[in-house]
Amino acid sequence: MRIDDKAIIGCVGDGWQPIVAGLCKHIKFILKRYGLDIELLNVAQVKEKLGGLRFYWCWNSTEDPHVKRIQDIAHEDIRDLVRAAEIQCDQTCEYCGESGELDDTQSWIKVRCPECKAKKRNWRDDEDDNLFCSDARGEEK
Ligand SMILES: [Zn+2]
Repeated sequence: MRIDDKAIIGCVGDGWQPIVAGLCKHIKFILKRYGLDIELLNVAQVKEKLGGLRFYWCWNSTEDPHVKRIQDIAHEDIRDLVRAAEIQCDQTCEYCGESGELDDTQSWIKVRCPECKAKKRNWRDDEDDNLFCSDARGEEK
C-alpha cells in the first residue's frame, strides 16, 4: 500500500485512527524532506495485535545507489515515528480515543478506557466485513 492509501487508517479502531493518520502524514513529510518518491515506501500491513499497534513498512527496492543511500538515512527517522505512534496507541483506547490502558480481562487483550472496558466495547466485532484487513491478516501467516 502507498502511504497515502486511505485504507491504512481503516485498519484500526476509531480511537487510533487520528494517530495512524498523523503517522502517515509525518512519514509523507519525511519522504518529501529527503526528496524520496512516495512510491518508494511500501506499507505492508497495519493492524492491532495483542493490544498494540503494528505498522509494518519497508522500502521498495531501487537500482539507484543514490536513492538507496537516502533510504538508509531516512529509515531511522521513519522507524522513530512508527515507534512513537505505537507508544501513543498503548495509552489510547482503540475504541474511542480516550486515554486507556491494556485490558486483558476479556477474551482479548486491547487498550481500552475505563468506560469502554466496562461496556466491553470491541470495534472488531464486525471485522470480517472489512476485506482489506482480512487480506492483510492472511499475509502474515
Ligand atoms: Zn474508550
